[in-house]
Amino acid sequence: MIVPVGEDAAAGDPHQELHDRLVEAGLLFSTPVQGLYGRSETYQGVVRAIDAMVHRWALELAATTIHVPPVIARSTFDATNYLQSFPDLMGSVHIFRGTDREHAELVRRVEAGGDWQALLEPGEVVLSSAACHALYPMIGGRLPAGGRVFEVSGLCFRHEPSTDPARMQSFGMHEVVFVGDPDGAQRHRDRGLEVALGLLGDLGLEAEPVPANDPFFGRLGTALATSQLEEELKLEAVTPIFAGRDRTAIVSGNCHRDHFAQPFGIESDTGEPAHSACVAFGVDRITIALFARHGLEPASWPDEVTAALFP
Ligand code: AMP
Ligand code: ZN
Repeated sequence: MIVPVGEDAAAGDPHQELHDRLVEAGLLFSTPVQGLYGRSETYQGVVRAIDAMVHRWALELAATTIHVPPVIARSTFDATNYLQSFPDLMGSVHIFRGTDREHAELVRRVEAGGDWQALLEPGEVVLSSAACHALYPMIGGRLPAGGRVFEVSGLCFRHEPSTDPARMQSFGMHEVVFVGDPDGAQRHRDRGLEVALGLLGDLGLEAEPVPANDPFFGRLGTALATSQLEEELKLEAVTPIFAGRDRTAIVSGNCHRDHFAQPFGIESDTGEPAHSACVAFGVDRITIALFARHGLEPASWPDEVTAALFP
């Protein structure tokens, strides 16, 4: 028997199956690359509603709101040490600054299907890996007593092509970040995660915090990553999206200690290197989790969920 390739691929693969359902429903539009999608207005409406939910919490904390671009300064990226930990996830922007002759060669190579990228050079920006990375160079200097809270959101890039629609290469991240003294940072992370679990609960997404490791303290298996796990500096709120599969992280709460503040000269009011902590909502992941949990038509979602999402 000959099985059509599409059916065969989806059979028994819950990632592919949900991916196909989202695409067939017109919520996501696929591209030639795995993990890169166009979004429908219905899908993006849910994203906006989740962003608004996070914004309401940020307003309660008197946060300063910053919408950040999808690229960050290469110098900022270098200072975050992301490359030391997860080089396989990063993406770099390359640009063309050649002469007319080099341009002619560029066009020749494009038309011949040759290696035109070799004529490019690194630009002054790289793709942003996490929304909060853009923040730290914006706030150098001494902080007021009690620290400051920022709300930072934007598109992030991670090179992790996948059939899993919840694992995208370009996705939204919405963070609420504290910068100040160590106790304040710890409290922000702990309280923030509680708030996040409450918001997710209101959306009908039961989630549980589990310790995880993160790029900013070293690769998995290294001593730094192990101690980060033991000290629970990173906790992820995980929820089941696919029956019988590992649960998926939809929010993370991170204590960075002075890892980000120190390279950018951010000091607490007493002149100590500041500590930072962020609560990062994966807005696309939460959106996918909502469609997986409640069905592909928001109009038929449970009333409590709709009320929480569209108050
Ligand atoms: P992290 O900085 O790894 O803790 O990521 C923060 C949040 O972004 C995670 O909890 C996820 O919800 C979301 N996220 C991370 N990677 C991806 C991805 N590849 N696709 C979609 N969402 C992601
Ligand atoms: Zn962050």
